[in-house]
Amino acid sequence: MAGLLRRGLFVALHHALGQGSYSVCRPALPAVLLGARRTKKTWPVSFPQEELKKRLTPAQYHVTQERGTESAFTGGLTLNKDEGTYTCVVCSTPLFSSDTKFDSGSGWPSFFDLMKEESITVTDDFSYGMHRVEATCSQCGAHLGHLFEDGPRPTGKRYCINSASLGFQAKDATSSTSEGGAAGSSASDGKTEL
Ligand SMILES: [Zn+2]
Repeated sequence: MAGLLRRGLFVALHHALGQGSYSVCRPALPAVLLGARRTKKTWPVSFPQEELKKRLTPAQYHVTQERGTESAFTGGLTLNKDEGTYTCVVCSTPLFSSDTKFDSGSGWPSFFDLMKEESITVTDDFSYGMHRVEATCSQCGAHLGHLFEDGPRPTGKRYCINSASLGFQAKDATSSTSEGGAAGSSASDGKTEL
C-alpha cells in the first residue's frame, strides 16, 4: 500500500515537473523495434537471381537457390580425392579442406569438419516429414546440404554436402609457396626446391 502510494506520488511528481528525466517510466520502444528487425534473415553477400541463372548450371542453381538435393552418386566431386579446398559454388568462400573429406558411402561429398566454424550456418529443417539440420553458406545463404551427428572422430559430425553446391580449388593450382622477399630480410638460406 505504501509502495503504491509512493509510486503514485512519483508519477505525479514526474508529471508535475514535466521533465523527461525519468526514462524508466517510458515503454521500451527501441527493444520492440530491434526484435522486429531481427526476424528478417539477410546474408552479407547477395547476387541477382538472373545472374546466378546464367552463371550456374541448372543443377547448381536448383540445389543452392531452391534447396534441392542432387541424386546420390551423381555429383562430380563425390569421389574426388585430390588435395585442395572446397568452396561455395555461388560466392567462392572456402568451406572445407580435402583433409576433412571422408568416404561416407552416402553418395554425397562428406566432411567431418569445417575450415572455419562461422563459414556455415546451421538451421532446423523439417521438410519431408523429417527433422534434419540444414547447412547453409554464411556468406550468401546458398543451400549446401545437411549436418548429421554420425560422423567419424574427432568431431563426430558429418557434413553431407551436394556436389553441386561446391567448387574445388586443387592444391597444385595455387602452389605459390615462395611468397617471401618483401619483408626485407636477407636470404637466410639458399635452399631451392626445384
Ligand atoms: Zn556462398
